[in-house]
Amino acid sequence: MANILVTGGAGFIGGNFLHFWAKHHPDDKLIVLDCLTYAGNKSTIAGVEQAELVIGDIRNGKLVEELLRDRNIGTVVHFAAESHVDRSITGPDAFIDTNILGTNSLLKAAKAVWLDEGSGRPHRFHHISTDEVYGSLGLNDAAFSETHPYQPNSPYSASKASSDHLVRAYHHTFGLEVTTTNCSNNYGAYQYPEKLIPLFLLNALHGRSLPIYGDGMNVRDWLHVEDHCRGIEACLKRGISGETYNIGGGEELPNLTVIERICSEVDKAFGAIDGLADRYPDAPAACGRPTSELKTFVPDRVGHDRRYAVDATKARADLGYKPHHDFDSGLAATLRWYIDNEAWWRNIQTTS
Ligand code: NAD
Repeated sequence: MANILVTGGAGFIGGNFLHFWAKHHPDDKLIVLDCLTYAGNKSTIAGVEQAELVIGDIRNGKLVEELLRDRNIGTVVHFAAESHVDRSITGPDAFIDTNILGTNSLLKAAKAVWLDEGSGRPHRFHHISTDEVYGSLGLNDAAFSETHPYQPNSPYSASKASSDHLVRAYHHTFGLEVTTTNCSNNYGAYQYPEKLIPLFLLNALHGRSLPIYGDGMNVRDWLHVEDHCRGIEACLKRGISGETYNIGGGEELPNLTVIERICSEVDKAFGAIDGLADRYPDAPAACGRPTSELKTFVPDRVGHDRRYAVDATKARADLGYKPHHDFDSGLAATLRWYIDNEAWWRNIQTTS
């Protein structure tokens, strides 16, 4: 039995990780440290019996030290972050505070309890990062490997890059046992509906426009969130301290293709699910029209990276990582989840 501190566990990926970990490791105790920003939601982790929510800030070093010491925690899985690129453009300060200072505060606390107090306890600090730290690829460039230079382009990716460097530095300077995973774009259940897939699914259900940045040809590598959790689990089990691993799905798609697939999944759902037209009468599909009529092109986001693609060869070879979901079935399951869990997204939209 292990005691694991999960920061940001009330958010999208952290919440999915709790569900995943509790299912596969029922004897472990999960202590969730989350300050419940607009992106954090208690109902995301409802039902995970092994999880205990501590409402608090990762920048509170004293609290983190107490948790590590008093709860006998040997593993930190660090998800907590400001995570939305658009918000980092309009308000970068929160990204610097949480992603850089917050990560440093966690690392300092881990060093104090795990190293300076001489507990000799085996430990691991696992840091969750993004492929966006590598910058943008041209259409014919090879996918990002772990040795690709860091070239972050948004305040979000710059703050994540900085946190990755801090994690690396605590390993090299102090000997803290760390691993980092850099993952591609995730989708799945419990994602806050400001991100592309849930935003477009819900807009389609409500007959609202589907705003497509620029020409819609920005390419992203999509990964079902459960496969990200699988990659983190593989890294916690088999990752070598001091190493970084890319996690990706190898499903590169232009945004326009993703949006077209969303439209076609929504059209199919209205044909297949009884009562959907009564629940969402404003959807074009409720009266037999194609959801694609909601597509609207809008001016591009400033500094919009053209293409991300992740080379996950190292994780596959060294960790035995293998994604289980393909995009089409994962997207259909995600749409079904949002249809079946209306209370979850209605609640967060009214409280944020
Ligand atoms: P999210 O925005 O859904 O959740 C972030 C969580 O962190 C929320 O619960 C929030 O309340 C909490 N939090 C924020 N600031 C905090 C603080 N100061 N103290 C304590 N808790 C705080 O984010 P997400 O999409 O789940 O992303 C999780 C991690 O994965 C992030 O580090 C992100 O950079 C990384 N990542 C995300 C993606 C993606 O596609 N979403 C891809 C790769 C990597």
